[in-house]
Amino acid sequence: MALKLPIYMDHSATTPCDPRVVDAMLPFFTEVFGNAASRSHKFGWEAEEAVENARKQAAAIIGADPKEIIWTSGATESNNLAIKGAACMYAKAEPGQRNRGHIITAALEHKAVLDPCKRLEREGFDVTFLEPGPDGIITADMVRQAFRDDTILVTIMWANNEIATINEVPEIGALCHEKGVIFHTDATQWVGKMPTDVKADNIDLLSWSGHKIYGPKGVGALYVRRRNPRVRLQAVQDGGGHERGMRSGTLNVTGIVGFGKACEICLAEMEAERDRLLKLRQKLENELSSRMEMVVINGHRDRRLPHVTNISFGFVEGESLIMGINEIACSSGSACTSASLEPSYVLKALGVNDELAHSSLRLSLGRWTTEEEIDFAVEQITRTVEHLRSMSPLWDLYKEGVDISKIQWQAH
Ligand SMILES: *Cc1c(COP(=O)(O)O)cnc(C)c1O
Repeated sequence: MALKLPIYMDHSATTPCDPRVVDAMLPFFTEVFGNAASRSHKFGWEAEEAVENARKQAAAIIGADPKEIIWTSGATESNNLAIKGAACMYAKAEPGQRNRGHIITAALEHKAVLDPCKRLEREGFDVTFLEPGPDGIITADMVRQAFRDDTILVTIMWANNEIATINEVPEIGALCHEKGVIFHTDATQWVGKMPTDVKADNIDLLSWSGHKIYGPKGVGALYVRRRNPRVRLQAVQDGGGHERGMRSGTLNVTGIVGFGKACEICLAEMEAERDRLLKLRQKLENELSSRMEMVVINGHRDRRLPHVTNISFGFVEGESLIMGINEIACSSGSACTSASLEPSYVLKALGVNDELAHSSLRLSLGRWTTEEEIDFAVEQITRTVEHLRSMSPLWDLYKEGVDISKIQWQAH
């Protein structure tokens, strides 16, 4: 079968909606259009029933009770509600004062965690941003060392969105529970791909999102533990008191139905899909590294999600690489989405040098990735890297055995 170009290898950014998800959603646009908060008629009851069914599906994939699921507009909102809501609820001093409490997070979190933490810092909280080692893992030991008497909240992501490394989440959760501190994890890249059990994994608050698990965009969920301990949150958004007062606003019934269905499918297919994608990724990495020199995989070699690789190519310029592989939709370590030419802050936090960070690609595979697409990607990346190197004077020096790092570059 002929390949459809460009191929999509950016499933960490977003996923297509599964057609089974779309089918489940369709009746809720037109036929079952009621407001789930309308208590006095059938239209409302049907909508509510669909929402509660989706709540069960969402709870099942993380081992929670349906009552512990709060609907949101996505992981960004879930993170904001979890972090600001918990910080304000458990604060040790009133707004406007200082020393309101200590929060532990990490330097390579998603902006949807870093920015709420930075805002809290301006509003009287102290925040520790843990730095990982070169493997990118945040360990329970790092968290243990950062604990203070006034620590009120720890927020550490489960799997990183750029390098796919897996932090010591169950161990960090156990530590938090030992100390009586609330533990939140941004599990947007994890849930739906890897087995999750909020009870066994010691999690109090967990965020995830529909559009990263083959569901619709603009819908997410937050798990809020109800016992041992019962976690309370201050609402961020005030209004009609929906979702036990934690998140007011008419529910996005259609999106929620899709979210629930997406969770159900991921749970049923997770194990087989993990194996299939791991084999494809291994093929991708093995072929690229066997066909070329100076191919570097960023982050821990084994402790990472099976469907993602973050890979750098020495002696190629990032911008040219991206232009050369124009038939592969993926992300790069150059912050090309912003106006700056700064390389990825995540790769910098690992100590990857600027050149290698700029020439890095995040290739994330998904439900419809085929072996033919892997072959195509290997060919196009290899051809592009070899072409760029053939024009690089530095590559020539390297091939002649000159140690580039020892060259004294002339000033001015
Ligand atoms: C995508 C992503 C988010 C943001 O999710 P939205 O639903 O798009 O708001 C937050 N955290 C991580 C780790 C992500 O990958």
